[in-house]
Order: sequence, then structure tokens, then C-alpha cells
Amino acid sequence: MDAPAVSVDARAKRATGPIVLLGAPGAGKGTQAKLIAAHFGIPQISTGDLLRDHVRRNTPLGQQAQAIMGRGELVPDQLVCGMVEQRLAEKDCEQGFILDGFPRTVAQAQWLDGRLQAGLLRGKPAEKVPLLVIDIAIDYALLVQRLTARRTCPQCGAIYNLQSNPPHKAGVCDLDGANLITRKDDQEAVIVERLKTYERETLPLTNYYQQRGALRRIDGAGTVEQIAQAVRDLLERRGS
Ligand SMILES: [Zn+2]
Repeated sequence: MDAPAVSVDARAKRATGPIVLLGAPGAGKGTQAKLIAAHFGIPQISTGDLLRDHVRRNTPLGQQAQAIMGRGELVPDQLVCGMVEQRLAEKDCEQGFILDGFPRTVAQAQWLDGRLQAGLLRGKPAEKVPLLVIDIAIDYALLVQRLTARRTCPQCGAIYNLQSNPPHKAGVCDLDGANLITRKDDQEAVIVERLKTYERETLPLTNYYQQRGALRRIDGAGTVEQIAQAVRDLLERRGS
């Protein structure tokens, strides 16, 4: 990461506004969300983290969520939106924020639009900046290649990648010499199925944002740093 402290100071006066980050599993969405948050000094809001936090603090929303998950059901939109709404009302969201894992559905996207238009945010600056949706787009064949290159040590759990982080000796863990395996989750058929599910669930959302002119696509084929640079360029261009 390149000196975020300096960048934050330089941009402190300018609002990035609300940002939504989309990307298929393996496209590096979580990593990019963290980099953007650090670079612009805005909070990264992940619904997974929010949910865990509410459960841990045993809040009313957390109790409801836990009861629902305990029955093996999906946490409904209303509850997820409630948690997001509370979080966005906090002071650190005034200049902008980056949502990671939300919205997941068109209904959630419509809710978010409604809240933004209604002046959900505390601070004025961010309200003036329209929502920007960044889609880290990557060719699925490339993603499958990247993800099937993962190897795991069954003994110590170390994770390798034949392309980006290979073991010193082929097929063997650097730490304990155990034979590396391909986890079931990393097998091609499983990955292809996961990507198809993502595509099916996310297409309505990207269509929704595209129609509203909020969607920007970033090429996800490059390195982490190349993608981060493209995202920064996009945000800095529109912020000025
Ligand atoms: Zn090992």
C-alpha cells in the first residue's frame, strides 16, 4: 500500500461520496475495498462484518438475525438494510463510504437510492456526490485459471497459488513438507458453478445501475496494484 496517510490528508476536503463495489468471487473485491478505504480515508462497510458485529454486541438487530440464521434461513432485506442504515448514519460516513457486499439485490439497490435521495447521510458534502458503482470485471476463464491454481497444505492450512505464490518445491508445503492438495472448493466444476450463481444473481443489479448511468467497469485482469490505480483514477477524475 502506498502511503495512505499523505493521500488522506490531501483529499480530506473532498468527498468521495457513496461507492458500491461489485465483483465476482476471486476478482479481488475485498482487497480493493480495503485499499480504496485506506487511500481516501473513508470507511469500508461490509454487511458480513456488520452482521457479525451486531451478533457479537447482542443488539436487537443481532438477536433477530441470529434467530433467523439459527433456523437456517437467509437474513431478510429489511434486517440487512436496517443495519446498513444505522451504520451510514455514523459520523465517519459524512465524506463518503464504500459498500462491500451490499446491495446484493435490486430491492436493496432501490432502498439505498431512496435513502440517499432522502438525505440519509449526516454530512452534506457526500450527499451532493452521486452514487458510483464500480464493477471489477474479469474474464471468467481467467478467474477459473486463477482460482484452480490454489493449493492447500492439509497439515498446516497454508495456501499457495501455482501462478502467484508457488511453493519452493512443486507439490510440497514449504513449512512442513506435506503433499499439497486441491480443496473441493477450488476444483474447476465447483468454481464454475459458483461463478454462474454469481452471474445470475448479480446481472439484474448491474443492469439496474447501468440504466441509471452509475456503473463503471474496471478491468480486473491486472495485478492488485494496477486495479487499485484504475479505481483511484476513476474516483479522482469524478471528484474534481
Ligand atoms: Zn504445511
